[in-house]
Amino acid sequence: MSSTRTAVVTGASSGIGAATARALAGDGWTVVCAARRQDRVEALAAEIGGVPAVLDVTDRASVQAFAAGLGEEVSLLVNNAGMALGQEPVAEADLDAWERMYATNVIGTTRVTQALLPRLIKAEGKIVFITSTAADTAYEGGAGYCGAKAAERMVAGAMRLELVDQPVTIHDVAPGMVRTDEFALNRYAGDADRAGAVYAGVAEPLVAEDVAETVRWIASLPRHVDVDRLTVRPRAQAAQHKVHRVLDPGRPS
Ligand code: NAP
Repeated sequence: MSSTRTAVVTGASSGIGAATARALAGDGWTVVCAARRQDRVEALAAEIGGVPAVLDVTDRASVQAFAAGLGEEVSLLVNNAGMALGQEPVAEADLDAWERMYATNVIGTTRVTQALLPRLIKAEGKIVFITSTAADTAYEGGAGYCGAKAAERMVAGAMRLELVDQPVTIHDVAPGMVRTDEFALNRYAGDADRAGAVYAGVAEPLVAEDVAETVRWIASLPRHVDVDRLTVRPRAQAAQHKVHRVLDPGRPS
């Protein structure tokens, strides 16, 4: 890879996005670090020699201005901006929260992708969608998030078919449990106890850098190599519902 290639990472102000921006910069990419929190993307861009960009993927004008401010050459797009909100059963679900999840994970991701697609094709580039193992199957309280991530996966899947004759590859990276600072906290509206319980007793959940490494690897592959979907989980999570927890270290597990 030439050291002058440009990568755009959405949701770069924290967690997986920030770690991915750092990993790509370490491989010589010029990284456009995009998210809503200006102070965060400016600090990260200063740290890694990247370019900060304020972007709200749910806002049409923001995406247009973002795309207009980018240079002609964009070789990699990492669609990482996203979130889960709430975990209520369908009967009690907050549908406003569902709308925000869909607006971000699905529509926002697609909007950014549409805006940058001509440049990505011209550069013979790659598009990575950070979906989730939540897209694989439903779980109790997960309908809104599982549905949004499954819809995001369908965008990636359809694009791979639609663009088979074009020099661009589409990749779906699906992480399982990743302990990041804000993801669970945002999901449970700032309830730290509930957020902490997600990871309780799990010896080593993934960390943001683990997922970033998979994106860095995909980005480093030759152009003809299409990693359709990459599922990455902690060893303690054999499946969505099979998580090994040691809640009392004194007791044999
Ligand atoms: P995170 O730390 O909460 O990061 C989410 C990022 O998305 C933040 O940088 C946030 O930045 C950005 N974002 C949210 N809404 C946005 C918007 N409207 N426009 C632009 N940026 C927006 O969570 P994470 O754990 O790193 O998750 C990153 C991605 O991985 C998400 O798509 C998530 O669904 C997926 N994922 C996470 C896990 C996990 O267990 N953590 C597992 C599987 C998949 P601003 O608030 O500054 O805009």
